[in-house]
Amino acid sequence: MIEVHDLVYEYPAKRALDGVSLVVPQGTITALVGPNGAGKTTLLRCLAALEMPYSGSVAIDGLDTSKAPRDVHARLGYLPDFYGLYDALSVRRCLTYAAWSHGIAPALTAAAVENAARRVSLLDRLETRAGELSRGLRQRLAIAQAIVHTPKVVLLDEPAAGLDPQARRDLSALLLELKGAGLTLVVSSHILAELEDYCSEMIVIEAGQIVGGKAVKVKDIERPRYLVELATARSDLADFLKGAGLDVAEADDLHAVFAFTHNRAARAKLVRDLVQAGFDVAGFGASTKALEESYFAQVGKR
Ligand code: ATP
Repeated sequence: MIEVHDLVYEYPAKRALDGVSLVVPQGTITALVGPNGAGKTTLLRCLAALEMPYSGSVAIDGLDTSKAPRDVHARLGYLPDFYGLYDALSVRRCLTYAAWSHGIAPALTAAAVENAARRVSLLDRLETRAGELSRGLRQRLAIAQAIVHTPKVVLLDEPAAGLDPQARRDLSALLLELKGAGLTLVVSSHILAELEDYCSEMIVIEAGQIVGGKAVKVKDIERPRYLVELATARSDLADFLKGAGLDVAEADDLHAVFAFTHNRAARAKLVRDLVQAGFDVAGFGASTKALEESYFAQVGKR
């Protein structure tokens, strides 16, 4: 759905993207992560056809952003990291304006506006002026503006900034709902634990280059991920777990992360088997920081 080939982007005195290539499959949510100044916002702006590459190419839904930027805009929703709202307009008018500017026909606008407002839980605020909304509610309105035309691709730059815990949870649910509807999403954020709630892929960018791209699984309710830690290194840890029929996501001599069942008896048996096989088990429990661990394993290594 998104294909980037050897993308180079330069500000007047700064090469911000240096040979970026990536593919984002349709129907996925990809986390775009990296340190401050890495090039995330610049990459998202290039994907949104708001910046034209110095060299290389970007294609959204098969359309080259430099040849058909307007067609790309019609298929794409973009939430910038800093955005303005028309404070004097009501939520309904802001969304109507966004719908019309994305080419939604007047006859279809009211339904599109209400649908977008419902998705971000702003239906009860349709007549409130944007200038009277709290920061979190403004964020929700900005997200609604980005999805009002039901785009195929949604790019969100720091969408959780300023949201309260409930609104963040609602945002996770919304993003998963959009993904379920077949949309392709790219979300830039520094809050890795949250990205893990909904992202299926991760792209790590550092100093304008992709340093790691790794598939991370969305939390699986039936088969959560577990982490086993050893006190003494054993090079056969992954093989042992695979031999026990487990789906090992990542492993080294001291740790392994794998999908496993909630079943307590099965977990107790696995620990028993490990100990009986001579593994020096120091810890075993739910893995909650897989994305964060994998981020730190990839960033700062160059
Ligand atoms: P953050 O996590 O801090 O938001 P980022 O990964 O989004 O950072 P970008 O905003 O894409 O990073 O910036 C990438 C590089 O380009 C940085 O070195 C930044 O200083 C530089 N840069 C960004 N905008 C401009 C600009 N308008 N003119 C010149 N340089 C810029």
